[in-house]
Amino acid sequence: MDYLSEQPLTPGLLVRVPLGRRELPGVVWPVRPAVAESPGADVAADLPDSALRPVIEVLSCLPPLPASWCRLVEFSAHYYQRALGEVALSVLPPELRKLDNTGLAKRLKRLNKTLAKEAGARTAATEGVEKPALTREQLDVLGTFLPQFELAEPACHLLHGVTGSGKTEVYLRSAEAALDAGRQALIMVPEINLTPQLEARFAQRFPGRKLVSLHSGLTPAQRLQNWLAAHLGEADLVLGTRLAIFCPLPRLGLIVVDEEHDPSYKQQDGARYSARDLAVYRGRLDRVPVLLGSATPSLETWQHALTGRYKRLTMAERVGQGALPRVRMIDMAVQPPPPRGQEAPALSAPLLAAVRERIERGEQSLLFLNRRGFAPVLSCGSCGWKSGCPHCSAWRVFHKLDRTLRCHHCGYTERVPKACPDCGNLDIAPVGRGTERLEEQMAQLLPEARVARIDADSTRLKGSLAEQLAAVHAGEVDVLVGTQMVTKGHDFRRVTLVAAVNPDSALFTADFRAPERLFSSLLQAAGRAGRDAEAAHRSEMWIQTWNPTHPLFDALRKHDFAAFAASQLDERQMAGLPPFSHLALLRVEAREASAAEAFLREARLQAQALQAELGGAEVMLYAPVPPHVAKVAGLERRQMLLESPSRVALQRLLAAWIPGLHTLRGQLKGIARWAVDVDPLSI
Ligand code: ADP
Ligand code: ZN
Ligand code: ZN
Repeated sequence: MDYLSEQPLTPGLLVRVPLGRRELPGVVWPVRPAVAESPGADVAADLPDSALRPVIEVLSCLPPLPASWCRLVEFSAHYYQRALGEVALSVLPPELRKLDNTGLAKRLKRLNKTLAKEAGARTAATEGVEKPALTREQLDVLGTFLPQFELAEPACHLLHGVTGSGKTEVYLRSAEAALDAGRQALIMVPEINLTPQLEARFAQRFPGRKLVSLHSGLTPAQRLQNWLAAHLGEADLVLGTRLAIFCPLPRLGLIVVDEEHDPSYKQQDGARYSARDLAVYRGRLDRVPVLLGSATPSLETWQHALTGRYKRLTMAERVGQGALPRVRMIDMAVQPPPPRGQEAPALSAPLLAAVRERIERGEQSLLFLNRRGFAPVLSCGSCGWKSGCPHCSAWRVFHKLDRTLRCHHCGYTERVPKACPDCGNLDIAPVGRGTERLEEQMAQLLPEARVARIDADSTRLKGSLAEQLAAVHAGEVDVLVGTQMVTKGHDFRRVTLVAAVNPDSALFTADFRAPERLFSSLLQAAGRAGRDAEAAHRSEMWIQTWNPTHPLFDALRKHDFAAFAASQLDERQMAGLPPFSHLALLRVEAREASAAEAFLREARLQAQALQAELGGAEVMLYAPVPPHVAKVAGLERRQMLLESPSRVALQRLLAAWIPGLHTLRGQLKGIARWAVDVDPLSI
């Protein structure tokens, strides 16, 4: 939509414009070079002025968004196949979209007051905590990375450092270099949960600097204030989750992406962007060094490091005398079977003994089970009824604490029935095991131990995760049961045993990325053990498995990420999967499966016709299929995969195809929504 303004407007300025009877925020967009260079460069030159409505208000108290910000947004819209305006507005703080000049001026005044107050406190603060002497490996890594700040075209670097190798210290020193050069540093983390911990470390190290965080857990007002501090160049350090990648930073000097392999960097609706990939792109745009850090890099990143597109930095050893835990397989097939009619215990006898040993020594054990709730399903022993969700093709999970059946896909929750809804039998029983049940069983088996659980359910209240983690750090917990949530990033000092209670299910799922994810989460979990040099030599990672000879476990036993990656990359190459090809997924949801299928059938015909037109058969169009969970919240889901060895060919086809899909949606009845996911993470 184009608008008219009386005065020439600087690109990047925020404005308010009319649309119908509504008033909407807008951004004055830079004229694209292609247009500017053509004769009669005025964008709207061929429109009579009367056809354009005037801009209502220019938010002139805010400096314009930088040109590179506009280019980043433009690239994202283009690459992820969304409308430019939609992306531009969706990445601005929601609060900002509502404000006019008066409102904004108020916020700026408040911000200036806060800044002045904080600056006073900061200058009063003494020097930051003392910096540790760097390890040999940290010195080497920084010796290579820091000179990047001097280059006109700095490169993207992968910091492959085993868990506990001190990657954070490398981030801190790199940020210090950026700040000393008068620049801002953007530090990205995958999850809100990890921000307070990192924020504390940065705040300690840089007491004289303005640090802000950006994530979805902030209040709208706070998020706007932090965003403004960054955009005005007042904040030196910005710490944030994926949405922070779109934060305008006029003095940007460094981008760090911690745990770069983490799927949370991928946005799951709207423009389905990968903040990790955009970080690399933004680094090139802004000519700043990018540091991607991980103990288990994504195979995409690893492949770039192998080909030299990214520079690889390695830290293979733990700080101090810390050693990586010894990995032990427990072959479940040779464990004595449980007494007749009884379920197998959660922990095999040797593992339980190992946990007891820890308790006696005053050390902690971490039991990793990636399934929350008490049991994944309830079942009637007499008629076979199961606790299915009426709205999804999935079981509802039994949560014993509040006696509910909850669907983890649509949220549908009911009280647990007293008897089987189908036959009235009173004997309905949980099948399988989630973290709640594991916690309960541990408390029964180990009455002397203090057992705690950390998962999405135990941490729903604000501040509760921090509290529970603090209890673990303070040594008030002997056995910690948890999901993925506890395996990421935490610097537990007293854990000497980590056990994966039931990792097998992830070995055999259809998603080609499942082994990569499993390996990564197990290695991350292992990384929580033996972080204290004192106890490192007796720290262990136990794997309970029916497949002890699986090559994935073999690589894990050796802590050999490179070997695992090599074997996975071989498989991917043979199968023509990423990173050796590029994928896009067209997803559709409809009340009736037939409508969803019709949409994809027609869409596929369109794509085939376009392929013929564009020439070349470089994009493979797969047949539409139902995803793993085919129905969610009453909507049938179907999807169709596109695959191409050429990113350009795929992009070209998508761009040509999408207008037709919009039309198609209008023509067909009963389509609830559809979306294209470029570089999808789960298929
Ligand atoms: P990673 O992120 O690689 O898993 P961390 O950055 O959490 O590792 O570092 C592991 C531990 O080592 C932390 O407790 C950290 O404070 C400590 N550490 C890091 N670098 C040094 C160093 N040079 N000297 C002493 N301790 C260090
Ligand atoms: Zn029944
Ligand atoms: Zn449901």
